[in-house]
Amino acid sequence: MQALMKRESAPGLTLAEVPEPDAGINDVLIRVQKTGICGTDLHIRDWDAWAQATIPVPMVVGHEFVGEVVEVGSNVNDFRPGDLVSGEGHVVCGRCRNCMAGRRHLCAHTEGVGVNRPGAFAEYISIPMTNVWHHAAGVDPEVAAVFDPLGNAVHTALAFKTLGEDVLITGAGPIGLMAVAVVRHTGARHVVVTDVNPYRLGLATRMGATRAVDARSCDLGAVQAELGMAEGFDVGLEMSGQAPALRDMVANMAHGGRVAMLGIPTEEIALDWNQVVFNMLTIKGIYGREMYETWYMMDVMLEAGLDISPVLTHRFHYTEFEAAFDTAKGDRAAKVLLDWAG
Ligand code: NAD
Ligand code: ZN
Repeated sequence: MQALMKRESAPGLTLAEVPEPDAGINDVLIRVQKTGICGTDLHIRDWDAWAQATIPVPMVVGHEFVGEVVEVGSNVNDFRPGDLVSGEGHVVCGRCRNCMAGRRHLCAHTEGVGVNRPGAFAEYISIPMTNVWHHAAGVDPEVAAVFDPLGNAVHTALAFKTLGEDVLITGAGPIGLMAVAVVRHTGARHVVVTDVNPYRLGLATRMGATRAVDARSCDLGAVQAELGMAEGFDVGLEMSGQAPALRDMVANMAHGGRVAMLGIPTEEIALDWNQVVFNMLTIKGIYGREMYETWYMMDVMLEAGLDISPVLTHRFHYTEFEAAFDTAKGDRAAKVLLDWAG
């Protein structure tokens, strides 16, 4: 089969012919239909310090996908050829305290699909049945392809109650943009989004942001005053990984405000911890998705009208992967999809 892989320890990706994966007795073999390009994949292509330290080569990359079940292992009862499915990208150990207690998203021994086990940028992928999500009838296959990052957005956005609350989202990347739609859906009052990219700020407005403002020139205090907000943001969703964004957020939270932090900083961030202490803030780290409550919530919110389609900005055939990756890395795109049909 054809697969996009990191073949050697150097920048770039290669479209190569590799053996089809086997489905073990507990596995599901899936014919990949569509995939999404994630920031992680860009790091792997660029072969930055994180990728060099994390990715064994050779490795088939990619983890955001939708596809059709073609074969199931002999222990698998719940999936059948033809089912439309996606995969949870974190393969957990199943044996640690958290796994045994049903808190699989807190497993300390996860393997990552397309990171340290073979990924989804391929014609076929085999994953354990415990990682397969069977989509609801009628789901848009393009939305199904991005359940993994949508799950990041949903997990973060549902970390704290947003009904009636004023929400600050820093970072309008694909995940921040999806989070705008989610907190709109869950009944937030004002949703203020910051970024430094005008194209993405435009998308944030389309997703339903009350205000989408350039973090470089805009004072969040002034935005609050304009919106008639007196006490600061109730909930903050940090989705940029940038130090100035986190500092701005902490400085603009209401007393007792709650911050869910998804963005992955590339270096240590110094904070004015007095603001955290005296304003009695809660800061919660978010990683991945809850297995499988987040997946359930995605299904039901989509069924109830959640619309993330404006985030899906570009589509390419997998053979045009170089152009697709360049587009995803550029400043006029959000989620870029690869089509694996034919
Ligand atoms: P992305 O890099 O596309 O989006 C980040 C956005 O932040 C960009 O649009 C960028 O312009 C913006 N930004 C840069 N400086 C800013 C500033 N000072 N203020 C506000 N915004 C600023 O990433 P994404 O795919 O949307 O993911 C969002 C973040 O979440 C990234 O940091 C990513 O690494 C991280 N992530 C975490 C998990 C997890 O499980 N914790 C999973 C996936 C992604
Ligand atoms: Zn575990």
